[in-house]
Amino acid sequence: MSGTGGPTLPQERRLVTAIPGPRSQELMARRTAAVARGLGSTLPVFVDRAGGGVIVDVDGNSLIDLGSGIAVVSVGNSADAVVDRVQEQVARFTHTCFMVTPYEGYLEVCEALNRLTPGDHEKRSALVNSGAEAVENAVKIARAYTGRQAVVVFDHAYHGRTNLTMALTAKNMPYKHSFGPFAPEVYRVPMSYPLRDPDGMTGAEAAARALDLVEKQVGADNVAAMLIEPVQGEGGFVVPAPGFLPALAGWCLDTGAVFVADEIQTGFARTGEWFACEHEAVVPDLLTTAKGIAGGLPLAAVTGRAEIMDAVHVGGLGGTYGGNPVSCAAALGAIETMESLDLRRRARRIGEVMTSQLREIAASHDVVAEVRGRGAMVAVELTRPGSLSPDAATTAAVAKACHAEGVVVLTAGTDGNVLRFLPPLVIPDHLLAEGLAVVDKAFATVG
Ligand SMILES: *Cc1c(COP(=O)(O)O)cnc(C)c1O
Repeated sequence: MSGTGGPTLPQERRLVTAIPGPRSQELMARRTAAVARGLGSTLPVFVDRAGGGVIVDVDGNSLIDLGSGIAVVSVGNSADAVVDRVQEQVARFTHTCFMVTPYEGYLEVCEALNRLTPGDHEKRSALVNSGAEAVENAVKIARAYTGRQAVVVFDHAYHGRTNLTMALTAKNMPYKHSFGPFAPEVYRVPMSYPLRDPDGMTGAEAAARALDLVEKQVGADNVAAMLIEPVQGEGGFVVPAPGFLPALAGWCLDTGAVFVADEIQTGFARTGEWFACEHEAVVPDLLTTAKGIAGGLPLAAVTGRAEIMDAVHVGGLGGTYGGNPVSCAAALGAIETMESLDLRRRARRIGEVMTSQLREIAASHDVVAEVRGRGAMVAVELTRPGSLSPDAATTAAVAKACHAEGVVVLTAGTDGNVLRFLPPLVIPDHLLAEGLAVVDKAFATVG
């Protein structure tokens, strides 16, 4: 056990001040004076330590973490294997630039990605710093391989905040508003969204609806890549109807487009498999990862078929910090933790607990239109009772009530009417149960 934070922290919810406490309020005032206004925060609480299933703030409050820093610390904060490998690496060397003088840790991460991602074909990987950068590189690679330009994306998609990924992202406010012009050759088609699609629409029918638009408005021969989150993240944990993803992947195979799965939020054991595509036996041509990959250190990757990845000329990919040795060490520690603790199984178990608890809440609160998700990635969508009209106000009120009681929950959805739950996969059972009890109480209070 290392240090005074991380896995050794008492696993309890403990409120010793109001949320935020006085010290957090002081820091919030400094934040306002020093940090650009464009950066939001879900909770106005500053962190002192975190580990397991808790975040301890600077006032000594211990909060239950049902967000994992947006699906990042799936192995828990400061997980032992991450801390040990990072400390060892940071003392040996911190950076040489892989493009100048390479190092073995980078290879080990690529080998792990090639082994763990779906499909047993020959693969290659490239490492970068952020999810958005991984998505941008997937598009570059698909264009170089196909000699085509068009990229097909879906309603409610989230792929990042850089210029190209803003174009790929669906939601205007807050991600795109006032930041145009956006990159060209991006085409958006309808997602399979079972709650909101016509009753009984199958995955195959939803795919046909999307593909018909692609063929008529873009032209199959022009599509370089079709890019999709197998379960949408920021869009509200939308799980497409069964058959939707396989139909899209099949169309790409037939037409020569590159099928890209953005598994940045769904990847690395979060949904109960290494990658969410596996739930439908879909093998993407390219797959992007970030978030859960490295226990909190910045790292992201593109992994895919060798012939596609290797279509790019030497020097065409890279970046100063991409695959930083300390981040690679963290990734190897995180992957080791996922394997040794069998966190895929744990994610399935957490998913069962969350789903059954949230279904009980749904049964007594008709503002909940649906409970959905995969594994430890579960959400509830809130609408005005008896309708599909999104209820963002109640969603925000429930989230706020949870925060005040010391439970970190996140919202999502194009309409801001989804509460999403992404606990660390190492959260103890008693904390998960207590966190969900607080959510239940928040629904009752908000009424
Ligand atoms: C978070 C996210 C991104 C962007 O990742 P960053 O590291 O924030 O750039 C892209 N795609 C999906 C699905 C995400 O959840």
